[in-house]
Amino acid sequence: MLALAAARLGFDVAVLTPEPDSPAARVSAHEIVADYEDADALARLAELADVVTYEFENVPAGAVERLVGLGVEVAPGLKALAAAQDRVAEKTFLNDAGAATVAFAAIDAPDDIAPALARLGAPALLKTRREGYDGKGQAWITRPGEARDAWTRIGGRPAILEARADFRRELSVIAARGRDGRVAAYPPSENQHAGGILRRTLAPADVSPEVAAEAMRIAGLILAALDYVGVIGVELFQLSDRRLLVNEIAPRVHNTGHWTADACEVDQFEQHIRAAAGWPLGPTQPFARAEMLNLIGEEALDWRGLAADPAARLWLYGKRDVAPGRKMGHVTRLLGRWAQG
Ligand code: AMP
Repeated sequence: MLALAAARLGFDVAVLTPEPDSPAARVSAHEIVADYEDADALARLAELADVVTYEFENVPAGAVERLVGLGVEVAPGLKALAAAQDRVAEKTFLNDAGAATVAFAAIDAPDDIAPALARLGAPALLKTRREGYDGKGQAWITRPGEARDAWTRIGGRPAILEARADFRRELSVIAARGRDGRVAAYPPSENQHAGGILRRTLAPADVSPEVAAEAMRIAGLILAALDYVGVIGVELFQLSDRRLLVNEIAPRVHNTGHWTADACEVDQFEQHIRAAAGWPLGPTQPFARAEMLNLIGEEALDWRGLAADPAARLWLYGKRDVAPGRKMGHVTRLLGRWAQG
């Protein structure tokens, strides 16, 4: 979707991916299939590109460092990547930047869990520090006796223990920062997960103007602290007392921002390309409310039925293989005009 947005603005896109026949490469001008850290592949990318972006926060930092060393502009930069790759570094950064999170403890060995659980309160959520997504690498712990089992279940890797957020709803803000430091944020959306996977986004969220403004303020704070260029996704918990805690940040376009493609004049994909290319940012005011439903695993196989629904805007990602829990596409439905309250 980034490549399509870039093409529409007249750019040639080169994709470096370890995956042969990837959806992105099939709609791009150049394809380089190689490991992210392949020196020749990075040199070729540097030769082809004036600016490089990533759409996956687990690209190795070494690859980005090499591109920077070759004189390529990379947006967002290394600081954002480092903050997003490690959950302890992420929460430490957020708190330092003035964005509140749940209380947490770094867990390096199973014996660290019981004292941390005593401090944070039960239940608490054990997550791998690195490379977790869609609820993978997570285990709830209610009693100290469950520590070892939980540690094994997440793969026995360095972890974080998080206090449970007693949230009323989950929100997110998609925001962009340009090279000139200007920030543009879309209004927050409300997100519903099942089994750790996003199912449904409703946007703009049905929250008060104060809560919406606070969520957008927090996103701006984070963007400035990271000296960020591009689009970011900021996931938030709204507590019963209305306080907002940041759950995590994604240094890229985000699944909870897909609705912008159907309900905004400039969507998150175009916005990211604009920011990375040093262009002016576009407007972020939606013209409609929207509901976005992810098509997970075999749900996408009903594309014929979905395509027959005149109210549904269907997006299929062109992934070759269906697998349980895999995001294969999404459907957006517009729910009527929206004007900022
Ligand atoms: P994450 O991979 O951190 O985005 O977590 C996936 C989902 O698990 C979130 O969207 C929440 O629904 C839930 N979750 C994550 N962290 C917590 C927490 N500290 N307290 C309660 N629920 C959480």
